[in-house]
Amino acid sequence: MNKEGNIRIAIQKSGRLSEDSIALFKECGIKLEMGKGRLKSESSNFQAEFLFLRDDDIPGYVEDGVADLGIVGENVLVESEKDVIVSKKLGFSKCRLSIAIPREDPFEGPADLDGKSIATSYPKILGQYLSENNIEAQIHEISGSVEIAPSIGLADAVCDIVSSGSTLLSNGLKEVQKIFKSEAVLIANNNLSDHKKALLDKILFRINAVQKAQDNKYILLNAPNDKLDEIITIISGMKSPTVLPLAIEGWSSVHSVLEEREFWEKIEALRNAGAEGILVVPIEKMIL
Ligand code: ATP
Ligand code: ZN
Repeated sequence: MNKEGNIRIAIQKSGRLSEDSIALFKECGIKLEMGKGRLKSESSNFQAEFLFLRDDDIPGYVEDGVADLGIVGENVLVESEKDVIVSKKLGFSKCRLSIAIPREDPFEGPADLDGKSIATSYPKILGQYLSENNIEAQIHEISGSVEIAPSIGLADAVCDIVSSGSTLLSNGLKEVQKIFKSEAVLIANNNLSDHKKALLDKILFRINAVQKAQDNKYILLNAPNDKLDEIITIISGMKSPTVLPLAIEGWSSVHSVLEEREFWEKIEALRNAGAEGILVVPIEKMIL
């Protein structure tokens, strides 16, 4: 079994989750090396080792405790019906599962799917949707190239992953019903030892700092002193902003932190209030 000491983390070997999973650990200051054809790698600066697997195998390995943690799409996790803990939503590999039908077919609502056959690699998630909506449709489970099923006469509709919709379009399909939203999640085994729980807490602390930093920007600006009060109420930042005198009489430099989502609104308000020389810089880590 698992060597006590290192926490074992399963990530996708190659695919749409790999790059962002590796980048996440890197931003958390956890080094990992991916060699060609390697299945396992130990971090040189954190008590962790990584297993490189197919994404479909990750929930099962985490449930069994072969791996302590894993990164996987919610779609694969829910479909697997494995019993693990979702420790953190990670915000990348966002996609959705949708039902799509041939472009020329009419569609007025989910009831139109009654009596149809639907090809999918996600029979459990689709089955759940159909029963919740009282739709009697036949599920054809296939493992790949789902989108060609209608054109070869295998099924009337498909239920598949969509991110931009271009694959559907090029197969003559249109998306008619979104049934499940997914993003990458960090999952954990249900029975972690205290030692491994402590390692997981360390990792979560770092992930939170990275995510917080991505949601915020550091802002520096110059302001005439008689406008300072107004400007400070616009950007109150983590505590109150830092105000430093400029070499020019009657002017100050103001530093603060802005949330990305209110960014443009605040910038406009600041300019209207008389702020000049506004600099906005990314924050690498943010510890609150
Ligand atoms: P594996 O060889 O590991 O089994 P795979 O071919 O099953 O890989 P990928 O295509 O790499 O899987 O997708 C992995 C996960 O990334 C999906 O389960 C889903 O959560 C997410 N994903 C899939 N397609 C997209 C997309 N177009 N955009 C963003 N995320 C996606
Ligand atoms: Zn897969």
